[in-house]
Amino acid sequence: MIDSTRFYTTWVEISESAYAHNLKFFRNIIGPGPELSVVVKANAYGHGWQAIAGLAVKHGADSFSVHSLEEALKLRKAGFPQDILIMGPVPGPLLEAVAAENFRLVAFNRETILRLQEAAAGLQKTARVHLKLETGTHRQGISREELGGFLRALQESPAVQLEGVYTHFANIEDTTSHDYAFQQIRRFEEMSAAICQAGFPALKQHSACTAAALLFRQTHLDMVRLGIGQYGLWPSRETLVSYKIKYDNDVEKILRPVLAWKTRITQLKDLKAGDTIGYGRTYKTTRNSRIAVLPVGYSDGYDRGLSNQGYVLIRGKHAPVRGRVCMNLLMVDVTDIPEAQLEDEAVLLGRQGEEEISAEQLAGMCGTINYEIVSRINREIPRVLAA
Ligand SMILES: *Cc1c(COP(=O)(O)O)cnc(C)c1O
Repeated sequence: MIDSTRFYTTWVEISESAYAHNLKFFRNIIGPGPELSVVVKANAYGHGWQAIAGLAVKHGADSFSVHSLEEALKLRKAGFPQDILIMGPVPGPLLEAVAAENFRLVAFNRETILRLQEAAAGLQKTARVHLKLETGTHRQGISREELGGFLRALQESPAVQLEGVYTHFANIEDTTSHDYAFQQIRRFEEMSAAICQAGFPALKQHSACTAAALLFRQTHLDMVRLGIGQYGLWPSRETLVSYKIKYDNDVEKILRPVLAWKTRITQLKDLKAGDTIGYGRTYKTTRNSRIAVLPVGYSDGYDRGLSNQGYVLIRGKHAPVRGRVCMNLLMVDVTDIPEAQLEDEAVLLGRQGEEEISAEQLAGMCGTINYEIVSRINREIPRVLAA
């Protein structure tokens, strides 16, 4: 894997103890019954799929859920024998790989079932599908009206086994009032019952993402698709507040962020009062200033929206971003950190000393959500396992 003794200019640290803590917490709330499927799409939300998959298995995950066939194949090639649910589209010509590797595939087109039948029969295998039921998210779901057609296609496809049914909530993390989610649960139950009655019993039913797993036990069913929570991040402020209201816990301590993103000072320079910094000359110093240049930019996933807004941690103190974030570089003000030295560690995201920069803080500054902040950290940046 990653050589942790090497000297990197920027790297992501993954805390095994934090990850283990989070997974244990979720296992506790869902209990031993339901399958715990960790969602490791988008490079495990930017955490590094390989490192996370290893930790997940070691600390009690049962299976994986991913977006693409490519992600599923990478897991298999890396030696993970666990079940893998592919939740995104797989084009017809690639369906053979689904059958060959015994992946679970979400189905939302009838054509997929018919073509999978051909591919699986050709290999003398049985392919497993999970139907994505439309309950109000209006993304990939199959509507009540379309359901009959799908079930007929399945009845005519002996090499395709309907293993499960699932749905995904539209706004469970966006609000503290969950009427719409409950409506989705009811629709899901109705449609699942209809599928059972049509002669497909013993289906694996699943609906829960992190927010649902945290807030509503009735969503756990046979399997939980745990994404952001395993990484120690809350799906939203609203979820945190809802959880606090419901369980009145010391919520801030429940989840531990797993990821830290670091870099090093590669240059220090002294500027005069009135000098401008970077492209567009958007920052003008108001005093004689010391600037540190860091070798990270927007192409690495450090959002350009953090220009003149963000800050990093150096020697446990705030060093504000000055000027625009460049493609591969950014400049921070270390005038008030006179002890800063060349090659000092700078924390872009995570803890240093008493201070912490959270994914939520960065998200707030650039008008997005913690999911986007972590998942866009460039894949090529090394992921290093830490205690
Ligand atoms: C990404 C995803 C999840 C995980 O959601 P989190 O909020 O990160 O837990 C679950 N189900 C589906 C269908 C997804 O696409």
